[in-house]
Amino acid sequence: MTSIHGHHASALEAAAVAPAVRALAEIESFHIHVYYDQTTRSLASLLRERIAARFAVDIGTWWDIPIGPHPIPQYQVAFSAAEFATLVPWLALNRLGLSILVHPNTDRELDDHESCAMWLGPRLQLCATGLHASLKAANAEAHSAVQNNTAPTVQP
Ligand code: ZN
Repeated sequence: MTSIHGHHASALEAAAVAPAVRALAEIESFHIHVYYDQTTRSLASLLRERIAARFAVDIGTWWDIPIGPHPIPQYQVAFSAAEFATLVPWLALNRLGLSILVHPNTDRELDDHESCAMWLGPRLQLCATGLHASLKAANAEAHSAVQNNTAPTVQP
């Protein structure tokens, strides 16, 4: 094949096998998971307070033990897609050295945690068995909108 025809053929070929484009509307909400250990728990606590003071989010309970796919202690913060544009850049500047997983929530939970996951700081290896088990449990419950439990008073 000539280079021109070859180029066209491979572009078509690529289009035929490329995955469909996913729409932003698929994202119902986002989570961050803030990881910590015994020595960084106080930093995680400080970050939690700073987030609560600045962002309308739903801050989850402390998990001082590994649970589901999370290999070490963590807490979750759920937030709307609208909050992403300020919270995630703010975390880039203010994560206090902690590892943070950022993931979208769509109807493809496995992808949400794997191919669609974003990390601030060092990436941790999620527990595959725990991920599958927790997704099974989560699928039993209906998705619901984020119920904010903070009352921010500080401009981020
Ligand atoms: Zn999550």
